[in-house]
Amino acid sequence: MEQPIAVTRQSFDDWMVPVYAPADFILVRGEGSQVWDQQGKSYIDFAGGIAVNALGHAHPVVTAALVEQAGKLWHLGNGYTNEPVLRLAKLLIDATFAEKVFFCNSGAEANEAALKLARKRALDNGNHSKNQIVAFNNAFHGRTLFTVSAGGQPKYSKDFAPLPGGITHTPFNDLAAAAEVINDNTCAVIVEPIQGEGGVLPADAAFLQGLRELCDRHDALLIFDEVQTGMGRTGDLYAYMQYGVVPDVLTTAKALGCGFPIGAMLTTDELAKTLSVGTHGTTYGGNPLATAVAGAVFSVINTPEVLEGVKQRHKWFLDGLNKINQQYPIFSEIRGGGLLIGCQLTKDYAGKAKQITQLANEEGVIALIAGPDVVRFTPSLVIPEQDVKEGLARFARAVARICS
Ligand SMILES: *Cc1c(COP(=O)(O)O)cnc(C)c1O
Repeated sequence: MEQPIAVTRQSFDDWMVPVYAPADFILVRGEGSQVWDQQGKSYIDFAGGIAVNALGHAHPVVTAALVEQAGKLWHLGNGYTNEPVLRLAKLLIDATFAEKVFFCNSGAEANEAALKLARKRALDNGNHSKNQIVAFNNAFHGRTLFTVSAGGQPKYSKDFAPLPGGITHTPFNDLAAAAEVINDNTCAVIVEPIQGEGGVLPADAAFLQGLRELCDRHDALLIFDEVQTGMGRTGDLYAYMQYGVVPDVLTTAKALGCGFPIGAMLTTDELAKTLSVGTHGTTYGGNPLATAVAGAVFSVINTPEVLEGVKQRHKWFLDGLNKINQQYPIFSEIRGGGLLIGCQLTKDYAGKAKQITQLANEEGVIALIAGPDVVRFTPSLVIPEQDVKEGLARFARAVARICS
């Protein structure tokens, strides 16, 4: 047997396009909510691959589905449909407002499909000036040119101009400001029920309800980007269910595959007609391997045990984080829903989120940031209580160090 190529963290700097700055260790194995690096050091995983590994690492049901499908059929191309994709579509339809599903491979692609649908629908209706998209400051919708332009963080889009036009940004949670820019030329409004990358900022219920009414009044589509909030993350299958506001189009990815790349756009029968044969597509979208995995993920997550368990775990995290904050007051606010939790740093610690997560790594816990001033937690939805306790104890040691 040939020896595998020796790799270290330095290899990343030597060989990889430098769009990321990964941690200075390499993880090699995971089980549940624990991961281990090349040196055998253990970490409690409070990041879950950025809200992706919703069932932790190497979940037996998901692994079994992957292995079984891997021995059967991986890919066909869209000239041939397959059983796993149809079963997953039916599961999503039965559990949500949706009547039709389009599968793709990522969150950005799901949003791309949603925005294209909105533009084409208006055009199909003969309305040539109804092409305006309303989006929100600080939003994140992906990295394709269209979705990065819809996103509300110019630092991600400005270097790639000229950008697709017809997109207006307005302040999040400001209904009056939205009402000023939504009009009969608006084809879609795209919004995250909780802004994830932007700092874990939940929408107010009245804001989403108001957007729903504005969209109805002006015949615009309301698109909920639930790529991060979706699949149980907030304690309901999708966050729209808690808000009681039903979108026209919903996008989902991240936790849908628990690490196997897959995304989906959910919509109604009527709107789905817009994307008629040949008008949109993707090579891998809906392939049997990805959809078999996602079907297994769905069958575990969409159960009262797991969804109720998210609410329980939310409380464990909040209790533990509040206790840490009593001892070392570094958070001005702890917010979010379910297992999408953001801790806003006080002025004294502004800009130190990254440094805190680096210290957390040293103490053996993996956490995320959401901008420079927010520490974010998006662990597995089934993380055991023992791991929450141990991870928070390690996190507390990191906080103690930044405070000393
Ligand atoms: C992660 C994310 C995306 C982009 O998903 P990719 O799979 O990286 O393309 C889009 N929207 C939201 C809200 C996200 O959190």
